[in-house]
Amino acid sequence: MGKPLVAVFSGAGMSTDSGIPDYRGPQGLWRREPDAEKLVTYEYYMADPEIRRRSWLMRAELAALGARPNAAHLAVAALERGGTPVRVITQNVDGLHQLAGTPARKVFELHGTARSVVCTDCHARSGMDEALARVAAGEPDPACRACGGILKAATVMFGQRLDPVVLGQAMAVAKGCQVFIAVGSTLQVQPAASLAGMAAEAGARLIIVNAEETPYDSLADEVVREPIGTALPALLTRIAAG
Ligand SMILES: [Zn+2]
Repeated sequence: MGKPLVAVFSGAGMSTDSGIPDYRGPQGLWRREPDAEKLVTYEYYMADPEIRRRSWLMRAELAALGARPNAAHLAVAALERGGTPVRVITQNVDGLHQLAGTPARKVFELHGTARSVVCTDCHARSGMDEALARVAAGEPDPACRACGGILKAATVMFGQRLDPVVLGQAMAVAKGCQVFIAVGSTLQVQPAASLAGMAAEAGARLIIVNAEETPYDSLADEVVREPIGTALPALLTRIAAG
């Protein structure tokens, strides 16, 4: 019998050990500074150069953190390298799963990526590093070099729809996996969160690793409340061993 297909669904909690703040959490930026939500809301971003200027500064601050993959990202990559079929579905835009070694083609980024920049007009993509270098050099709101259009991080902002292709791929993974592990997500942002229910309905073993309760705990075969950085590596070692 082949090894089970393992889907790892990761939320903000996956990256807190890497020093990336959870904007929505209890201590999150959105709670402290409600106006900050405008920086990642498409309508405000497109309408107001001052919002864009502040948004680029926020991107620069986040990039300056130099976040590295943590033990949980590395454990997922190790599971894949060890021969277990793994797919990652993530709500995070930090690219840390790929940096940890999980092949990019096996990572489905529901909310896009902050490592790239996209033109809102001609859709040309370029690197975040290049855009931030222009910001540092004195362009507060760098425009697309190809067409002059407004640039933004290649993330899905509030007010934007998820990429239907990526969502479709994530749904196929949820329906086709034998184990679905939801890590560091409160499973409250739709339609992403409903993937857990979809997996359980299709007969997958549902495991939830999260400090707080989630709406899917009652559906889960196993709920783990211990810190992700130690709990997930232990859990994946157990799964790899069969
Ligand atoms: Zn353009």
